[in-house]
Amino acid sequence: MNESAKREPFELYTAEDGTALLRIKEWEERFPWLSAGFSTRLGGVSAEPWSSLNCGLHVGDLDGDVAENRRRVAAAAGFAFDRWTCAEQVHGRDVAVVTAVDAGAGRLSRSDAIEAKDALVTIEPGVMLNAFYADCVPIWLVDPERRAVGIAHAGWRGAVADVAGEAVRTMTRAFGTKPSDVLAAIGPSIRGCCYEVDEAVARHIPEGSDSIEPAAVPGRYMLDLAKFNRQMLTKAGVLANHIEISVYCTSCRTDLFFSHRKEQGRTGRMTAWIARKE
Ligand SMILES: [Zn+2]
Repeated sequence: MNESAKREPFELYTAEDGTALLRIKEWEERFPWLSAGFSTRLGGVSAEPWSSLNCGLHVGDLDGDVAENRRRVAAAAGFAFDRWTCAEQVHGRDVAVVTAVDAGAGRLSRSDAIEAKDALVTIEPGVMLNAFYADCVPIWLVDPERRAVGIAHAGWRGAVADVAGEAVRTMTRAFGTKPSDVLAAIGPSIRGCCYEVDEAVARHIPEGSDSIEPAAVPGRYMLDLAKFNRQMLTKAGVLANHIEISVYCTSCRTDLFFSHRKEQGRTGRMTAWIARKE
């Protein structure tokens, strides 16, 4: 499939205060009860190298600046900041079923974040699920029939561990979600143009996968984690025509995004959010 010929599912939206977000416009138009999107690096208060809309508390930035950036993203998305709910991410496959009592966890401090989870799912209105990225793959899930939502963080470790499939299966167990009802969006991430990996990573990718190609240098490979995650989602029963992939590569577009690889680790984090408004 020629992705460049496809429509980009994420549309840039700049709030009055300059906070720049990407929203999944088609979903938000089809489902007025849903809010889903991704922050860019533009419109925040953080200094270099976190300039400027850094949403990660664990990257050396000032906690107060991160809190202000998160507050701006929540406001631009239409939520009070006390709805912002996040977990400590560990590149694993565990999924948290988030309820009303979890709302606000981790928004100001890592100490009260939900423990060690790389995917969050909920059916509770008014809870904003947030996760953090700088090259790793953000995956949004929505079950429009039951109004259940989920967000996953899938770098190569999480993708190989099938955190995306685990999130779908958790929605089935917790909310009765049918995988064939699920719509998925795979957001801006480091793509096959920029993500060179060695044999130690490449050997985890199943043979015949269209997500990996040999690089120019022997023993090195170009890995496209967005494509790999799409395969894992279809294995979990999500229909191929229900999966949207952004064309944005975070490493190619450091004007819009933080890139851990391109900026040698000294950078900020975007947040992905999804929530039921009602
Ligand atoms: Zn690239």
